[in-house]
Amino acid sequence: MAKKDNLTEHLKTHFGFDTFKGNQKAIIENVLAGNDTFVLMPTGGGKSLCYQLPSIMMEGTAIVISPLIALMKNQVDAMRNFSEEDGVAHFINSSLNKSAIDQVKADIMAGRTKLLYVAPESLTKEENVEFLRNVNISFYAVDEAHCISEWGHDFRPEYRRIRPIINEIGKRPLIALTATATPKVQHDIQKNLGMIDASVFKSSFNRSNLYYEVRPKDENVDREIIKYIKANEGKSGIVYCLSRKKVEEFADILKANGIKALAYHAGMDSGQRSANQDAFLLEKADVIVATIAFGMGIDKPDVRYVIHYDIPKSLEGYYQETGRAGRDGGEGQCIAFYAYKDLQKLEKFMQGKPVAEQEIGKQLLLETAAYAETSVCRRKVLLHYFGEEYLEENCGNCDNCLNPKKQVEAKELLSAV
Ligand code: ADP
Ligand code: MG
Repeated sequence: MAKKDNLTEHLKTHFGFDTFKGNQKAIIENVLAGNDTFVLMPTGGGKSLCYQLPSIMMEGTAIVISPLIALMKNQVDAMRNFSEEDGVAHFINSSLNKSAIDQVKADIMAGRTKLLYVAPESLTKEENVEFLRNVNISFYAVDEAHCISEWGHDFRPEYRRIRPIINEIGKRPLIALTATATPKVQHDIQKNLGMIDASVFKSSFNRSNLYYEVRPKDENVDREIIKYIKANEGKSGIVYCLSRKKVEEFADILKANGIKALAYHAGMDSGQRSANQDAFLLEKADVIVATIAFGMGIDKPDVRYVIHYDIPKSLEGYYQETGRAGRDGGEGQCIAFYAYKDLQKLEKFMQGKPVAEQEIGKQLLLETAAYAETSVCRRKVLLHYFGEEYLEENCGNCDNCLNPKKQVEAKELLSAV
């Protein structure tokens, strides 16, 4: 009992929250007990707190391995706002010059750093491994842990080197976190990080406030989207396109139609990119037209719609991208435009890749197609994909439940794709 109050008190002091969300508390207790912990929690569920709070409470420095530089800065800034103590969180990545890194290292050695974010590329650098060997490490956190798996939506080969590097630096308890809960990905992560015996905390992936709809995509798609955005003027939304070219084009089309839209993709100059991101976060723009490069770890609570101009490459990706809507628990409309020929185009792009990779890619595409073409509750299909059984007859918040259509013959996808 005393411990519970203590935890809640720490939550209040350092983060300003009164209560824990979902199973945050059980997870944090498990980390504090020094056990390996595996957390499957949807986007917006509050995963960061599961390592941030224990890092503050434990002796030493927690090492957080996180994939994106933009994401790190975001999180470190957020921690700085929450915490009274200065210098509680730091990061090391390729955006820092030598003297900045030396400063961070000095802070760590002085014992002022509770939380150190590192990109996997930086973690594997020999000089950093050498340095970390002498640091008193409380635990390691691997955020966005699905990056380890080829079955995840964002595979990063350097994530595979995390376990061997940790062994080199010095073993400590591990917490791995992801919003990707497909059984294949979960197994890959646990195996690869050597944490098959970890305590697993899995939350429901149902986002009951999100409305799912798939619309057939034809030559009127631009007009349909413009109409939708205009009907939702003043609300924040994201339009995902597959190619950078399409992103630029469609952002221009929206602007030409008097919509406050900006583009975002990894091919843009980084200053412009972050300026556009900030404009969206600060609501100087209503709509961001983006490739999937946009969104990971970006916490804008009141995104009211996510439109997929093109069908995504995997259902996993779709769930992640739509998950950026309605993070505040309010309304979030998720509308995907689907044309069978887009799938064929995606399949063509895969040609020339290694055979194994093509096989995985095709399988993921088939699952997306099945989702797009189903007349079953979309929520049921999405959750089933995460190994979760949705038992309601009618979710009341997807196109198929609100407007049941008669069964249509499924296309012969296997032979076609
Ligand atoms: P995830 O990494 O799971 O997508 P985040 O860690 O980014 O989620 O947290 C999502 C949002 O929830 C953030 O705005 C965070 O401040 C908020 N949050 C986390 N824990 C709590 C809590 N116990 N009470 C209220 N808000 C919380
Ligand atoms: Mg997160």
